[in-house]
Formats: sequence, structure tokens, C-alpha cells
Amino acid sequence: MKVLVAGGAGYIGSHCVRQLLAAGHEPVILDNFSYGHRRAVPAGVRLHEASLADAAALDRVFAAERVDLVMHFAAFCYVGESVQAPLKYYLNNVAATYTLLDAMRRHGVRRFVFSSTCATFGVPARLPIVEDMPQAPINPYGQTKLDVEHALRSLARADGLSFAAFRYFNAAGAAEDRGIGEDHDPETHLIPLAIGAAQGLRPALQVFGTDYPTPDGTCLRDYVHVDDLSRAHIAVFDRLGQPGSAFFYNLGTGRPTSVREVIRAVETVSGRPVPVTFGPRREGDPPALYADSAKAQRELGWRPKFQSIEPIVETAWRWHSAHPRGYGDR
Ligand code: UDP
Repeated sequence: MKVLVAGGAGYIGSHCVRQLLAAGHEPVILDNFSYGHRRAVPAGVRLHEASLADAAALDRVFAAERVDLVMHFAAFCYVGESVQAPLKYYLNNVAATYTLLDAMRRHGVRRFVFSSTCATFGVPARLPIVEDMPQAPINPYGQTKLDVEHALRSLARADGLSFAAFRYFNAAGAAEDRGIGEDHDPETHLIPLAIGAAQGLRPALQVFGTDYPTPDGTCLRDYVHVDDLSRAHIAVFDRLGQPGSAFFYNLGTGRPTSVREVIRAVETVSGRPVPVTFGPRREGDPPALYADSAKAQRELGWRPKFQSIEPIVETAWRWHSAHPRGYGDR
């Protein structure tokens, strides 16, 4: 398949591009480098530098590349920032996504793979989270992804778009053997911040809240390796042949891991202490989120290779050890 990867120079997109190449597909990257990294673009892969919000640029890309499918990773992903600057999130994650979908419609591209999130569930009524549980986001980031999910359902019905929306739990780890990893600016994610603190390159890690109704008082999350996420995106291709198909999958290991357990994993893997301070809760953080991924396992044959936190942290540690300043291109 020839696949346009929007946000292909970002964290999850760049891992997906490598997996597409490994599986014999032809990725083409669309990125405006607002957050992506030029060094994450592999040699030999065509790159279009444009914004999703630029309909004329999208027309040029779709005219030049007769793609079979679009994967869309080009979104802002900071929960805290989305609370402070919601319009930034609605304009990019929602409005620009509609511009992309409209360009796809004009050019007859009927297959779409969308990065959604467990944040669409808000504070779930039950755990683990199953696909058809009610979705009630508690922050604008989650709401933007849910808005697009709703639009996709309508487009499948009205226009015959075939799509899969993957609700990621906490993407983590790195494919260090292929020279790519996690490099956000600013970095707000737990694992890279804990690793940076262990390396002495970042300040002490602040733990956001120790009074949650969880076994050790810190939030529970489901950390899933970025390469495992990528594999699901390719495994779904076979199901998108039928016009109007709509699929939703939760992607996680199903294993809840607390903030304290992540810190311990970083200490074990690195052999160094992680300096920590304890602070208040961060607005927009639900106490516990972990996935029931039985549907992806059943329908896609997807099973995460990385089943627990330590091996995931190990891949992240190797990347950050080899690239203490990330890609170093900012
Ligand atoms: N977290 C923390 N300190 C930090 C960053 C994150 O305690 O400096 C906690 C956060 O409250 C959440 C978990 O770590 O419970 C994972 O947060 P992250 O930002 O990595 O991912 P999110 O769950 O927001 O997508």
C-alpha cells in the first residue's frame, strides 16, 4: 500500500513509517515540523512539508502521490496545554483534520487510520476500558479526538469512508536500533522526564498527586510500546477494503502501572536513583486508565510484544542514553 503518513516525523508517526517500510509498504510523509524532527525522516522516503490546514497544499500532495490510505498522527497531544489553550487544540486536532478529510474526499482516497486516545473516555465507569463504554472526556485534548471519531462515523455512513480509530493508552519506549525515539519539546511525559532526572539532565521529577484512590496513591496508566502500537496500524489494512467500514480499537497491554512503579523501573533499568519531589494533582488527569484490548487481539491478531514496564523503559533508556539531547535539531 502507498500510505500518506500525516505527522510522520513525530514520535508515533516515525515509528509507524519504519514499520511500514519493514512490512514492504510505501510510506510518504506529510509534516510541517511544528513538533516533528527532520532527523526522524528515513533516507529515501518522500517528504511533503506542509500544514494540514492548507487545503491547496494538500491538493498538491494528493495530486502528486496517488495514495491508497492516509494515517493521521499530526495532532497536539498535551493534556495540560489543551486545558490552557483549547482553541489551539480545536483548530489543529479538529479543524485541520476536517481539512485533511475533505482533501481525501476530493481525491478519492477512501481509507483512513486515525490516532485517537484513551482520553476520550474521561474517568471511566469501569476498568479495564472496553471499546463500547461511554466516552466523556475531562479535558479538551480528549474532546478533540472524540469530535473526530464522531465525524468519521458520519463520513463512513455518508461517503463510504473506511476507517480505523485506535485509542492509544500511554505510548512509550523507542526503536533505538533504528535511531528513533521520543523527543518532545517541551517534554511533559513521565518516562522521558524520569529518565532525564536519572541522567542528571533534568530537574527532579515531580510526582503529580499521591492521594489518588489507587494502591500506592499515584495514577495508574497502561504503558504500551510504540512499536506495538505501530503494528496494529498495519494489521488493520486488510479490514479497510469494504467501503463504509468503521472500527474502533483500544490499544494497551491491559496492565496498570503506577507512577511510583514507573520510577522504580527507571531506577532498576538505569542503575541510578530518580530524584523526585511530590506535588499536587495535575488538572485533567483521571486516577486510572487501562485497556481491555481483547477486540484488537481477536480481530487483528494483535498482541503487544512488550508486556510489562521494565522492557519498555529499557528501550527508552537506550535511546535517551545514546541521544541525551534527543534529535538535537531544535
Ligand atoms: N506524571 C507525573 N509527573 C510528571 C509527568 C507525569 O507524575 O512530570 C504522571 C501523570 O500525572 C500521569 C502519568 O504520570 O498520571 C502519565 O502522564 P503522562 O504525561 O506521561 O501521560 P498522560 O497519561 O497524560 O497521557
